[in-house]
Amino acid sequence: MPEIDARIQRIYEQVTQRNPGELEFHQAVKEVLETLGPALRKHPEYAEHKVIERICEPERQIIFRVPWQDDKGEVQINRGFRVGFSSALGPYKGGLRFHPSVLLGTVKFLGFEQVFKNAITGMPLGGGKGGADFDPKGKSDGEVMRFCQSYMTELYRHIGELTDVPAGDIGVGGREIGYLFGQYKRITNRYETGVLTGKSPKWGGALVRRESTGYGAVFFAEEMLKARGSDLVGKTCVVSGSGNVAIYAMEKLQQFGARVVACSDSNGVVYHEKGIQLDTVKRLKEVERKRIREYVNAHPDAKYIEGGNIWDIPCQVAMPCATQNELDEGAARTLVKNGCIAVSEGANMPTMPGGVKLFQEAGVAFAPGKAANAGGVATSALEMQQNASRDAWTFEHTEERLREIMRCIHDNCYATAEEYGSPGNYVIGANIAGFRRVADAIIAFGVI
Ligand code: NDP
Repeated sequence: MPEIDARIQRIYEQVTQRNPGELEFHQAVKEVLETLGPALRKHPEYAEHKVIERICEPERQIIFRVPWQDDKGEVQINRGFRVGFSSALGPYKGGLRFHPSVLLGTVKFLGFEQVFKNAITGMPLGGGKGGADFDPKGKSDGEVMRFCQSYMTELYRHIGELTDVPAGDIGVGGREIGYLFGQYKRITNRYETGVLTGKSPKWGGALVRRESTGYGAVFFAEEMLKARGSDLVGKTCVVSGSGNVAIYAMEKLQQFGARVVACSDSNGVVYHEKGIQLDTVKRLKEVERKRIREYVNAHPDAKYIEGGNIWDIPCQVAMPCATQNELDEGAARTLVKNGCIAVSEGANMPTMPGGVKLFQEAGVAFAPGKAANAGGVATSALEMQQNASRDAWTFEHTEERLREIMRCIHDNCYATAEEYGSPGNYVIGANIAGFRRVADAIIAFGVI
């Protein structure tokens, strides 16, 4: 039905016109819209109720000034954002990113992705995202605290456990969530633990939340390999980044018996043929907040490549866990040539469209971030569940729940791809499965 394709194209053009210059947002919308044709053909009610047009327009977008004082007493100004994209399935839910590159379009791309991701977890979560163009790198604890307090002094009026529940993302980990929660508690006079997730298990956080995104992406990879009669045992793996997602992806890969030979940060790549020593990475990144180049001081047999491309290192399983658009078509070609059989995205939209196409054509098992990294938000929902019931689960119980959720997400994507005529295509499976859940709720609520 060419009229459906023309309609989708029209909607995409409207999105680009209404959101000029927001290239990452355009890219995220395009990637989803391109796959929705089969769902629109089967369910004409989605077009009739203009569901796609509604999903592409955030429900609300908040931009605010964040003034704070650095250690020298100088006033600094940053820009804060929070985009509530869709509350069709629950309160807005999605992380905060603190990175100098953050613009409104970055937050919108992440919020849009989050809507579909949260939907395929099967949990009652809407989608949102936020952040600021603040760079935590090189800042003292005091500076980070003052920034977080100022950020929350505006954000607090827009969030709440039934309204909008932020969490961490790039540049926002346990330390930042602590400062943000402290200020929220002080301003509101409420110990409302369910307002933020990613809290420390010492005061309201869930065990496994820290590990969940990385572990979940590995569970997804394991499921994909299982569907092809294989597994992770003995596989050579490369994981980009060395932040929260990358560290715990590496940990679970190693627990599954895989050999992780490389990781990175925005300056360079570490290659350690005998296997990355995770204790060193955790010390450097979680405790000392240093650069990955320092890894070789502890392991002289490892190699550090300043400005290197991690995807040049041969591997069977690749896990991009750093940032968007970090794996282009050329890198995908190199990976395929070197015998890569599976790619599981821990980061959001790390593979560029040409790379995704190439992987799919080459028969590589490819898991889009929307599905593969949904373990983070799913465990946030488990954290909210424990907060609501004043309960605290064990590590083992929570990890088992996470594993089961990832299995369900995998099976749902797999079955949906098959139902809509593209067996084995997890991109189509994830997009249509997520879209249908949100779309049905939007129709049920009427025009609001
Ligand atoms: P962290 O801040 O903990 O780590 C980010 C890592 O990626 C660092 O090693 C960082 O290096 C590297 N990185 C960041 N930006 C760039 C860049 N522009 N170029 C190269 N490397 C870069 O963040 P997370 O691990 O939490 O997040 C990583 C990805 O996972 C993001 O895409 C995020 O959206 C996604 N994600 C995170 C979830 C979570 O629960 N935390 C949930 C779902 C998805 P450097 O230190 O040098 O900047």
